[in-house]
Amino acid sequence: MRPDIVNQIRTCEKIALRLEPGKRERARLREKVAEYSEKFLGRLHDVPAYITTKHNGHGIDRSPVGEKPIGIEPALSLIEKNLDTPGLNPASGGHLGYIPGGGIFHSSLGDYLADITNRYAGVYFAGPGSVRMEQMMVDWMAEIAGFPEKSGGNLTSGGSIANLMGIVAAREAHNLRAGFFKKSSIYLTEQAHHSVDKAIRIAGLKECPVRKVPVDSFYRMDAEKLDRLIVRDKRRGLNPWLVICAAGTTDVGAVDPLDDIAGIARRRNLWMHTDGAYGAFFILCNEAKKILRGMEKSDSLVMDPHKGLFLPYGTGAVLLRDRKKLYDAFWYRANYLQDALKASDELSPADLSPELTKHFRGLRMWLPLKLAGVAPFRAALREKLLLARYFHEEIQKIPGFRAGNTPDLSVATFRYEPRRGDANKFNEKLIQEVVRDGRVFLSSTRLEGKFVIRVAVLCFRTHLDTIELALDILKTKALALGKS
Ligand SMILES: *Cc1c(COP(=O)(O)O)cnc(C)c1O
Repeated sequence: MRPDIVNQIRTCEKIALRLEPGKRERARLREKVAEYSEKFLGRLHDVPAYITTKHNGHGIDRSPVGEKPIGIEPALSLIEKNLDTPGLNPASGGHLGYIPGGGIFHSSLGDYLADITNRYAGVYFAGPGSVRMEQMMVDWMAEIAGFPEKSGGNLTSGGSIANLMGIVAAREAHNLRAGFFKKSSIYLTEQAHHSVDKAIRIAGLKECPVRKVPVDSFYRMDAEKLDRLIVRDKRRGLNPWLVICAAGTTDVGAVDPLDDIAGIARRRNLWMHTDGAYGAFFILCNEAKKILRGMEKSDSLVMDPHKGLFLPYGTGAVLLRDRKKLYDAFWYRANYLQDALKASDELSPADLSPELTKHFRGLRMWLPLKLAGVAPFRAALREKLLLARYFHEEIQKIPGFRAGNTPDLSVATFRYEPRRGDANKFNEKLIQEVVRDGRVFLSSTRLEGKFVIRVAVLCFRTHLDTIELALDILKTKALALGKS
């Protein structure tokens, strides 16, 4: 007679083994998922970029998690109806709103492998290869950004966290202490991404005076005015310590005069943090090198591979000119990790970020770069720059439309100016009509009180035919609205 505890263990084991499907079952599940993803990709060109539904994914709530399992088919149909139908389809080339994302296929295979093997990418001792791979991705980004040898960084979940990490590293590097916050001023423009304001707050720095540096007619930071503000603040006894600039703003894709700002930051002893979440990867294109000049002088730089490198959501990056500054902000000690810490002097992601255990993000980036090489990424980015310029030229040819500035990168702005009536209201209606149509998705913003529509070209599936379609839809809808 077995002791009771062994019987109990056996019983648990039998049920727990459902977590380990056998070879045939794995093949069946894999096939179903592959079938679903092929169907999704096969239809992508023909389904709308935005779908309005009544249910808005409510079917998910109506199928609560319980003790009883459901099969893969019902699970996939829940996904199809509730996830992959309502709202914006970010995988669609017709996604021209906000800042579009990516989702290249190769990455999904990287994720698949990373999930199956579940290699630990937080600490070198546990996963030397996976840590090296992430390190290599960071080094590659640092290299294309033009950062020096001693630079370093971290793959993050996105640009918001990367902004936060850059700002925290700046705070530590400048040794700011609470009593001093009220005197320590920060400089940015009204065009800074909201994640920057949020990061300042989360970093505990909300008492720092934040100076909004005026922008020029291209919505780029006015470097001369920045310098004047800094000098004035110093004279008043303040401690100007941080300037936050953009390598591609979200609203209009404007690139601040980074080289000039870098010069000022050096001279006045400010930390220069550059938010290149949207725009930094354009450094891969010769066309954008000039406008991004000076980006390599940033003390910290944010790049978002899930934007400019077309990776699926969940991959951002922060780079520091001096990796020691990142370590100084995020180092840790823990008794239970003493073996891991003794084992090597190699820096691990856990030494350089707030995270310990994390998704192994390196593989979803490494695999596509290795399988496709860099050339198609560079070509796709160049294509996006050219498409935005093409749109900018063509929209002006349609009567009634007025284009904004020539795009710095791949965001073009415009609006329709009706002969009579409220232009803001007209454009608001126009964009509603475009979204209702759904074949392309555009978003809007306000510039100097004016309602402005934007076309943001960054999805790798956006090609010339998409832009022609967008132009055609805009022309037709504007004409119809003008008549109504
Ligand atoms: C998208 C974006 C962010 C935020 O990045 P997430 O990856 O969405 O967290 C920050 N700054 C700029 C300029 C962006 O375009």
